[in-house]
Amino acid sequence: MPPEPAPRPAQRPFTAAAAAATVTPVAQPRPSAPALSSVPSMAQPVSQQPSAPRTPASPEQESTAWFDEAPMPVVSTRPPLKTAAPNMNQPARPQPPAARTPAPVEEESTAWFDDAPAPARPAPVSDEAIAVMDWDALKTAVATCTRCALCETRRNAVNGRGAHNAKWIAIGAAPSRLDEKDNQTVAGEAGQLLHNMLKAVELKPEDDVYITSLVKCRPSTPDGADRAPTVDELSACRPYLERELVLTGAAMAMTFGQHAARGLMLGPAARGKVMRYGEAQLPVVATYHPDDLLRKPEDKAKAWADLCLAKAAGHG
Ligand code: SF4
Repeated sequence: MPPEPAPRPAQRPFTAAAAAATVTPVAQPRPSAPALSSVPSMAQPVSQQPSAPRTPASPEQESTAWFDEAPMPVVSTRPPLKTAAPNMNQPARPQPPAARTPAPVEEESTAWFDDAPAPARPAPVSDEAIAVMDWDALKTAVATCTRCALCETRRNAVNGRGAHNAKWIAIGAAPSRLDEKDNQTVAGEAGQLLHNMLKAVELKPEDDVYITSLVKCRPSTPDGADRAPTVDELSACRPYLERELVLTGAAMAMTFGQHAARGLMLGPAARGKVMRYGEAQLPVVATYHPDDLLRKPEDKAKAWADLCLAKAAGHG
């Protein structure tokens, strides 16, 4: 008889407990983690990211160098940037500088400034105060003067220039648009021509001559053109001129242009003769304004005669 087969062990039902008891866990070799600093965030599985991945910065966000130099956009239509939560398991990556959000036009408005009350206008300086001023006080007073209505339209008051101890005082009627812009009495090409005229009669413009105007603020018409000063404006500004005459000690006055001659004399004036001004009987000679000579060079010969007359009268 063939031997009976050995009895097989009874098969136990498969349960989780049995599986735990019978299955030996196999240690799986874990890949060695690379250094964090070298791991790009995108190498990690999405499920291991504790926070939403950072929205890639648009090219506009990566650099603001160009932005700072670009003209301010009028209105920003770009929605506010959403900032992703920082991944605390990753080292901080250098972030591009945040783009400056342009201020809407409303924020740049100066409406608040326009509505601000205008600063109180300083009280006019008195004739008596001007009569005792030194050079510094005089220039400051002119710069802030409110003695006539020209202070409301001027861009700046134009003080005289040149030698403080002068042999001659050269007087124009008023600052021109260019004089006001350059803040210089008889500016530009006309000033250069005046310089040459004075040198022609052997004066040193910087050392011997003080150049000023009857009024220190530019009179203008409603459409912005230069105009001659009014009698009221001449009278209001006269104390400054009187003080300049005293401080310079000039022995000769030369006026440039018909408005300067008539404005100084406050009456008729003419070329070709020596007039007298004030209690001191200061000799005055009228001639052409350098601007007129630039327009009509043929009058330079008459201007030369005027200069020679003034030099003789002022012993210049
Ligand atoms: Fe003063 Fe003369 Fe100017 Fe008039 S023109 S505001 S008086 S500086």
